[in-house]
Amino acid sequence: MNFQKTLSICLLVLVFLGCSKDDSSFDERNSGIDKSANLKTLGASANELLSDEKFTSIRIEMVYVPGFEPSQITLDNLIDFLKERTFKPDGVSITTRAVATSGKAPFNIDEIVEIEADERLLFNAGDEITVYIYFADGSHEDDNNTKVILGSAYRNTSMVIYGKTLRAIASRTNAPDKSMVESTVVNHEFGHLFGLVDVGSPMQVNHQDNESAAHCNVDDCLMLANVSFGSGILDMTDHNEIPQLEDLCIRDLQANGGR
Ligand SMILES: [Zn+2]
Ligand SMILES: [Zn+2]
Repeated sequence: MNFQKTLSICLLVLVFLGCSKDDSSFDERNSGIDKSANLKTLGASANELLSDEKFTSIRIEMVYVPGFEPSQITLDNLIDFLKERTFKPDGVSITTRAVATSGKAPFNIDEIVEIEADERLLFNAGDEITVYIYFADGSHEDDNNTKVILGSAYRNTSMVIYGKTLRAIASRTNAPDKSMVESTVVNHEFGHLFGLVDVGSPMQVNHQDNESAAHCNVDDCLMLANVSFGSGILDMTDHNEIPQLEDLCIRDLQANGGR
């Protein structure tokens, strides 16, 4: 029961890839695929993910290192979350695929970006927008005894989940089921792709966490910066439910084309 550790469920990242333009023209010359629309900064595709104006479907490419495969419950929860918040008449789909270890763990975000360059296969095409989620076989290199990073949204359609850290958290006494932790992190990071809080989807009412940019200050909201696994963990196990977006976050999404 001595489980008061506060866990950061995301790394606040604003990775500015100064060289992304050059990279993309290099890639285009070599593969014929235009990747530039998927190489933008975090929050840049919030409206495109939420509304049906430009893209009428979302396709998610989940890539995992064997042993760190996301559960079917996580996939189902993510589909439900996306259907609830977006307008995508042609649907939301997920493909999963195993890849070899990168051998780079523990990771910094530059290494995660390099892995994406090697492993990502799906890019926006026609009226379909794509999102890449990498389940890494390691932890973030900045983790310490008081704070760990479970996941990070680092570009407009890219996120990483630190699978080894997830497993360590879920294996502790009184921890919720691993799928619940995993779903919470995946949905939270998707909230950042949706532009929350005030990074891509402008705030309609002030609800920004003063100590943690891009996060919400409403009790129990999915976009809180930290999940306290003290009493919070018991709530999660009791109800077997993952945290939901509260009203002020939903209002921001609705104002930016979401449902
Ligand atoms: Zn976050
Ligand atoms: Zn919120």
